[in-house]
Amino acid sequence: MDSEGDHGEEITFMSTPSNQTYALTIDGQAVRTAAMIDVRNPATGEVFAQAPAAGADDLDRAVAAASHAFEQWSRTPVAERKALLVKAARIIDDHADELAALFTREQGRPLPGAAAEIKGAAMWLKAGTMLDIPVEVTEDTATRRIEVHHVPLGVVCAIVPWNFPVLLAIWKIGPALLAGNTIVVKPSPFTPLTTLRIGELLADVFPPGVLNVICGGDELGPLMTAHKGFAKISFTGSTATGRRVMESAARDLKRITLELGGNDAAIVLPDVDVDAVAAQLFEGAFHNTAQVCVATKRLFIHEDIYDRLRDRLHQLAKDLPVGDGTQQGVRYGPVQNEPQYRRVVGLIEEARREGLTLLEGGAVPERGYFVPLTLVDNPPDDARVVTEEAFGPVLPLLKFSDIDDVVRRANDTEYGLAGAVWSADVEQAVAIAHRLDTGTVWINQNLQSTPFTPLAGAKQSGFGQENGLPGLLEFTRPKAIYIPKAGK
Ligand code: NAD
Repeated sequence: MDSEGDHGEEITFMSTPSNQTYALTIDGQAVRTAAMIDVRNPATGEVFAQAPAAGADDLDRAVAAASHAFEQWSRTPVAERKALLVKAARIIDDHADELAALFTREQGRPLPGAAAEIKGAAMWLKAGTMLDIPVEVTEDTATRRIEVHHVPLGVVCAIVPWNFPVLLAIWKIGPALLAGNTIVVKPSPFTPLTTLRIGELLADVFPPGVLNVICGGDELGPLMTAHKGFAKISFTGSTATGRRVMESAARDLKRITLELGGNDAAIVLPDVDVDAVAAQLFEGAFHNTAQVCVATKRLFIHEDIYDRLRDRLHQLAKDLPVGDGTQQGVRYGPVQNEPQYRRVVGLIEEARREGLTLLEGGAVPERGYFVPLTLVDNPPDDARVVTEEAFGPVLPLLKFSDIDDVVRRANDTEYGLAGAVWSADVEQAVAIAHRLDTGTVWINQNLQSTPFTPLAGAKQSGFGQENGLPGLLEFTRPKAIYIPKAGK
């Protein structure tokens, strides 16, 4: 996301040592496991490292350590907790070069974008400490005062996807720890290494057990959501998995926050300057090789400018370089993993079989999980490439002529994460924004978020919210204290 920040700094990149090994961080200790999982470089498809695979015993140890640490951490003055979070942010920032190189190898995103995510995560962690948890006073009369405090929940289970593995982990770690909880973080098995390395780097920053990082195979997530030691699950991932998480959490009524999938619409009105907006619209859809929860996934273009904008976007798809993210000048990397690659290729092949018009981008490397940046020229609204979240570089362009109709079409989805309206008439765009059933709407911009603004999916895009004070309060529960006044 843009909020990773463009820090305008010169970035130098190190290569990751090939003999580097990775460990879980449990109770402040590096923990190695007998079982391991292979980690592939999506730019080659080859295994380049192994990650530890935590089992039920490791999970139990992590939860026990976090539970023990909670007693002290929850009573640690908030200013001290904030100071340690700021220190953690500085350490991540200081290691940005090393972490970015590792990030690109496991995630595939070109190095500048990888560095932006690391630096953005550090910025986010630090900025979050500017938030204060309020004590609300709901009554203050001659006889009594009622205070509502927001107290920590206990041990938080954080489950993170592979598209923004570091930033999205920090979105959970920062507020969870600030509020006085302890945490066990699980990155995706497709992108575990950068998060494991951050766990190692921060092992001495927090008291043992406050921040634990574990990873493992497909069985680990369900083991975590079912674990009785967690008070809260903060999950980011697909809507399908989110439903399973909610079901599992229901058994013992764990608190949950779910940040899920999207099928975001951008609506482009006829008064835009096509040449000026084309590149922004393109990036809004294809950033991180279109693997962004809030990327534009359906681009509605007014019929008066449709052909011109379509041709400009197609030219960008042909011109912008796709390749190995370690190479200079590469703009877009591979799809992150093989199952996702097969899914995206399957969607494109199905569109081809259905006779839809595909506008393909430039050549891509043959090795690795590369897919040409692909536009679909005005497919019907019920084509699978329109109704499903592709989460990969295939974007349907959809023609419209009537505002009421395009608003209806934009809202005609189970999702409601974000959306965008593009127009020279900002007032008109805002009026349309109010009619979109989403948690966020951008006017003449996209992919923006800030540490102080909640991201909250509507409909099946989420449950609860992250970021801002409301996101911070999701890691707390209200506790009302009724205090009699002296002599009453
Ligand atoms: P995913 O749901 O497959 O996996 C997400 C995480 O959940 C991974 O760590 C995975 O190991 C774990 N997991 C898988 N099955 C589980 C289960 N049964 N119980 C518990 N954990 C389980 O998602 P993904 O493919 O990694 O990520 C892509 C999806 O994430 C897209 O739909 C995207 O839109 C969404 N996403 C949403 C946001 C947001 O803020 N709303 C942000 C980024 C990504």
